Order: sequence, then structure tokens, then C-alpha cells
Amino acid sequence: MSRRRQIYEGKAKILYEGPEPGTIIQYFKDDATAFNAEKKGTINGKGVINNRISEHIFTLLGHIGIPSHFIRRLNMREQLVKQVEIVPIEVIVRNVAAGSLSKRLGIEEGTQLPHTLLEYCYKDDALGDPLVAEEHIACFGWASQEEMQDISAMAIRINDFMAGMFAGIGIKLVDFKLEFGRVFEGDFSRIILADEISPDGCRLWDIETNEKLDKDRFRRDLGGEAEAYQEVARRLGLFPEGVSEVLDLNSERKKRGK
Ligand code: UDP
Repeated sequence: MSRRRQIYEGKAKILYEGPEPGTIIQYFKDDATAFNAEKKGTINGKGVINNRISEHIFTLLGHIGIPSHFIRRLNMREQLVKQVEIVPIEVIVRNVAAGSLSKRLGIEEGTQLPHTLLEYCYKDDALGDPLVAEEHIACFGWASQEEMQDISAMAIRINDFMAGMFAGIGIKLVDFKLEFGRVFEGDFSRIILADEISPDGCRLWDIETNEKLDKDRFRRDLGGEAEAYQEVARRLGLFPEGVSEVLDLNSERKKRGK
């Protein structure tokens, strides 16, 4: 048994103290939640897949100059990351109307937006992560105006890169959520990308069929969520040895007597 200290347990990940000061280990669980954790379940193999997908995307983003907390993947479910002070804002990037935007403004899901839309939500589970304006962020000091400039510029670059990457494998990047953090260097701090990028926090639709390949399958009881996550990983060229072999899904099913 490992004796490392658990720092925090979230809905989809557990954070442990890392091997060196200033580092953290992110452990990816199979647990899935939706609607502010009112709906709970598990998606078989999700943690393993999200760990790989997030590693892949953060590595590619690093190649185009997006600084992030990602250091390296440690094993099937864990990655080593830099410790950051999380900015308490979820950045939602939208290319196509869906989800809460469609509901709030009565815009039909699937409507192409004339340009990319950035929205900000205040990270507070008790309040249900409410939508806020940049004025609120400045007014309550959640992030400075300079930090918000860095965050929005990075979010747009990340979207341009990811939209192209997914289009290349027949997937439409409808919307996604980003989180950023501060790292301190002497008297200064800078903003880097943090958290994860995976089908948990993205809407990904097949370009041809509009089939959903993301957590909406779980949120909306569509079924086939594990297969959808596997399909995204497969199209990204991850798990060349075969996703089900790596996940050993058949033996896990047998163990649970299913
Ligand atoms: N999202 C997320 N975590 C949240 C809220 C949203 O990862 O707490 C992602 C979600 O997966 C989707 C995008 O952000 O890809 C936009 O979500 P939306 O605001 O439409 O909320 P939802 O309909 O998911 O409640």
C-alpha cells in the first residue's frame, strides 16, 4: 500500500502529494457524475482512457507553446503534474450551441456559432458553478485582468489547435471546459493550463453522424459511454495495442460476475 498523502478527492480524480515539493499526482477514477453530482455512476475504464487522452493533448499543446501543469504520465491511471493554485474559474469554449447555452438562450443544439464563444463559470459546487461575467471576476478578485487576458488568449489557441486535431479524425469539437492555475516564481506568478482535457469535459460529435462521443452519453442515459471514450482514444491513435486488451475489460467484467 502506498503511504503517500491524499490532498483532495474530486468527482473524477484523486490528488496525492507528489515525490518532490511542488508536484502532485493525479489519479484518474472511473467515477462519473453529472448535474452537479446529482447523478452518479461509473464508466468502465474511463480513468485509464482519460489519463492517456489528457497526456496526449497536453503534450501536443506543449509543442505549440501552451504551458501546462503536465510533467509525465506515471502509469495507467496516474500522471505527475506541477502543483498550481487553481484559478476558481471554469472556462467554457464553444464552437457549436449545446447543453446549458442552448437551454439558457433557446438556441437549438447543433447550431454553428458565428464565432468561438468564451464563457466563465465561478467554481463553487454549492452554488452550482454559476455563469459569471469578466466584471465579476475582476470585482471579486478571482483573477486579475492581466491573468484573464492570458487565459482567454490561451483558450482560443487551444480551441484552434484542438478543433483541427479532432476534425482530422472525423470529430466535431462542439464545446469544452478548461481550468488554469498559477505557478509562483519568486515575486511573480504566471498562468498555466491545469486539470485535464478528456471526453469528460468536452462535447465531441462524429462529423458525419453527429453521434455523441463524450459524457453526454452518461448525462442523457444514451448508453455506450465506455465504447464512446474508447472510440475517441482509438481515433487519436492511442492504445495501438488495442483498448480492450489494455483495459482488460473482459476480465474486470468476469470478476464482477457480469
Ligand atoms: N463542463 C465540464 N464541467 C462542468 C461544466 C461543463 O466539464 O462543470 C463541460 C461540458 O462537458 C461541456 C462544456 O463544458 O463540454 C459546456 O457545458 P455546459 O455549460 O453546456 O453544461 P452542461 O450542459 O454540461 O451542464
